Amino acid sequence: MLKGIAASSGVAIAKVYKLEQPKVEIVKREADAAAEVKKFEEALEKTKADIEAIKERASKRLSEEELAVFDAHLMMASDPEFASQITAMINNDHVNAEYAASEVSTQMVTMFESMDNDYFRERAADIKDVTFRLKCNLLGLMIPDLSLINEDSIVVAHDLTPSDTAQLNEYAKGFATAIGGRTSHSAIMARSLEIPAVVGCSGVMEEAKHGDIMILDALEGEVFLNPDAETVQKYEKKAAAFAEEKEALKVLKTAKSITTDGHQVELAGNIGTPKDVEGVLNNGGEGIGLYRTEFLYMNADHFPTEDEQFEAYKEVLEGMGGRRVVVRTLDIGGDKKLNYFTFPEEMNPFLGYRAIRLCLDRTDIFRTQLRALIRASVYGKLCIMFPMIATVQEFRDAKAIFNEEKENLIKEGVAVADNIEVGMMVEIPAAAVNADNFAKEADFFSIGTNDLIQYSMAADRMSEHVSYLYQPYNPSILRLVKMTIDGAHKEGKWAGMCGEMAGEPYAVPLLLGMGLDEFSMSATSVLKARKMVTSLSKKEASALAEEALQLATAEDVLSLVKSRIDK
Ligand code: PEP
Ligand code: MG
Repeated sequence: MLKGIAASSGVAIAKVYKLEQPKVEIVKREADAAAEVKKFEEALEKTKADIEAIKERASKRLSEEELAVFDAHLMMASDPEFASQITAMINNDHVNAEYAASEVSTQMVTMFESMDNDYFRERAADIKDVTFRLKCNLLGLMIPDLSLINEDSIVVAHDLTPSDTAQLNEYAKGFATAIGGRTSHSAIMARSLEIPAVVGCSGVMEEAKHGDIMILDALEGEVFLNPDAETVQKYEKKAAAFAEEKEALKVLKTAKSITTDGHQVELAGNIGTPKDVEGVLNNGGEGIGLYRTEFLYMNADHFPTEDEQFEAYKEVLEGMGGRRVVVRTLDIGGDKKLNYFTFPEEMNPFLGYRAIRLCLDRTDIFRTQLRALIRASVYGKLCIMFPMIATVQEFRDAKAIFNEEKENLIKEGVAVADNIEVGMMVEIPAAAVNADNFAKEADFFSIGTNDLIQYSMAADRMSEHVSYLYQPYNPSILRLVKMTIDGAHKEGKWAGMCGEMAGEPYAVPLLLGMGLDEFSMSATSVLKARKMVTSLSKKEASALAEEALQLATAEDVLSLVKSRIDK
């Protein structure tokens, strides 16, 4: 059994699909030329067929422009010069095909890389890709491809990137990764895909082999390899009980999020792409409290144009049918990189050039996004918020650019909604303690506890080594949250929370008690949260929060909440 962090609840039992690039080791051998040439020609044909097949599958998801990379690879694999140099080397030197392929490709790559021309440098990358596939085919090694999974599987990987998770199909029953924490992006993606996941499971890459049977208990954060029949039976029962509980919660789908003494709050969902809207509505979400627009940028090979962005925002607003949609402007940097943009080298990228800092510097990028958002505003109820605001001046600068673009669009004769709210994320401690001042200028707050906890505890949210410091119940965090909510209310503004804490069942009573107005979470947490809200009175929640704020440790707070709720 391996221990990890439960990141997306559920239980799955299936075969392991290991996402690991094969290690290609080439040794030079003397070989029969005719046999090697034949082997090479067959492997080259298979390589072309593989690329065609990947392109075909990708064509359902990607645009023509994005598919161009596969054409470049096909062109390379069909280049007569490339093939003839390899066959010549086999015939002249009587060496094995993989050695010849490797040598020829290294020579070509060196030549192209030394050229002072972008086009040729890109060709060097194509040669490397094609030759890697060719060598794997010559050596009989499998290159894993998530979109090819065609039987129930649990994906095991070091980590999963957003584009990996985008490739997961209906056969992927869950995943286990070696690194990551509850708020790393793979964990957030798992929750929006509604599949169980255990992250930060060190040792899983060493222990699990392709095809092993795995039990993934993402309620406890445990992984079992090749279990006996009795254990399998036990976990089948656990999986069934989990499914039953999920089903039972569905009666709350259309219920109001209202306490027994009539205090109403909003329970909303977090999304990464327009496709996630359906999951929010199916799970009884009353709005979108966080649309992480960076996925639009991360899943592309260029900065999305104003029109491309407009279409995405319009789809979300229309999909939500007039319910509130809070869109966060671009939050890249830290662990969220773009392959078409070079970030400066920094010692601490999480503390560096990112999010609103980058947008206020590269206002061209920022203005394009704001224009797309303002144009989409007429299709629903739009709120815009800025990520990583630390100072009042940053908020003012960002808001001024928003106002300028709004005026520009009005002058251009474009229809614009007159009720767009402009707020900010409170995810830097400096903003939380200064909340009353921010509230004079921002229309609303959304507390980002994933980062607020990371920065308050000085503990990298991606590191499983310090994941014990992710302490949403720590009184220090509760006090920052309370200050933020009070700051908003003092100025008649609303306060929401879109960090993972908002969906933690035992945090809900505390947040309710502190007066949080909107809770935004992974869609799958909404019904559980509603069950909690509807079973409590605001009066008892407030008393509970007051008591909790006086305690010293996270453990004390959690046991207090449990003693009241689980009674
Ligand atoms: C947060 O920091 O709490 C948040 C919601 O944003 P992200 O997880 O995208 O950083
Ligand atoms: Mg954040």
